[in-house]
Amino acid sequence: ANSSSHLGEEQPGLVITSFGKRVLVEDAKGRTFSCAIRQHLGKLVAGDKVIWQTDLEANTGVVVRVEPRTHELSRPGFRGQTRMIAANIDFIGIVMPVVPGIHPDMIDRYLVAAKQLDIPVIIIINKVDLLETDEDWEAIAALLEPYDAMGIELIPASTISSEGLQTLQDFMADKNSVFVGPSGAGKSSLINALIPDLDIRVGQLSEATGLGKHTTTNSILYHLSKQNEQSDELIATGNLIDSPGVRQFSPSPCSLSELESYYPDFAPFLGQCKYNNCTHSIEPNCAIRDAVEQDEIALSRYQSFQRLLEEFKANAAEQNP
Ligand code: GDP
Ligand code: ZN
Repeated sequence: ANSSSHLGEEQPGLVITSFGKRVLVEDAKGRTFSCAIRQHLGKLVAGDKVIWQTDLEANTGVVVRVEPRTHELSRPGFRGQTRMIAANIDFIGIVMPVVPGIHPDMIDRYLVAAKQLDIPVIIIINKVDLLETDEDWEAIAALLEPYDAMGIELIPASTISSEGLQTLQDFMADKNSVFVGPSGAGKSSLINALIPDLDIRVGQLSEATGLGKHTTTNSILYHLSKQNEQSDELIATGNLIDSPGVRQFSPSPCSLSELESYYPDFAPFLGQCKYNNCTHSIEPNCAIRDAVEQDEIALSRYQSFQRLLEEFKANAAEQNP
């Protein structure tokens, strides 16, 4: 018999995670199915929207199509290849803790990486329960001023006092988001606060995939919502996609002019340097350095730009010795 005769009708689904050559697909009612993938579709990741068919003889299925992705999250992989991490990401939440401190250099790395993927960002200023005085707040505000000026949403938050959690939840409604940030920033704590039954869900996932609880390093999509008990339907209030790979998000080496394009605060001064290939480091008559001296560009922004430029140059030298 034709194997397709054992398949149910085509239906839409959402990829929760991938494991081996299979994916866990969720149907419209929130039930998950372990699915094979038609070969020509390539690798699928958490967040992919697919069309799939159940295999009527088992509680499994096969993915037959994948919808075009908006905003893929990827990172540089082996030998210049791109490693897909997650699909259809609507925004990146950069989590920065006020203790040990806000590091503009790190924020700027995440901003460049996000701009390279054309994904909007917000900055979650975490652990604000540790700020005691007005001076503490002012020092943090001064570090964040350049981002405020760029129009980036800044959300003060704390998993201890619950400040900002509702704002964050509202912001994440109906979107797919990821959290990035240094180790210890409080990403796990935030995710646990936003998804109270996380442990149970991780347990269910490991059962569904047949893998141990923490054996998969692939991205996993978690709903921020709960199932509506009455109607059996999912209340769509957003998804959070997480994995070690998501958290190690970093920029790809790029050219001077590309890097400049990721610094909107430099834009008014570009093209005014003496040399048109000015790297704004040691060249005479540099409009960017002048702007830093006039406080029109934040020193931290200038420094992060120079560090990224150095890093990309070193990387290029390594690739073409
Ligand atoms: P991750 O590495 O980014 O996932 O960070 P964790 O969530 O593991 O948190 C690192 C440490 O910061 C833990 O000891 C948490 O208890 C602590 N922490 C997390 N959120 C907060 C917060 O809002 N306020 C304070 N004071 N500590 C926090
Ligand atoms: Zn210059």
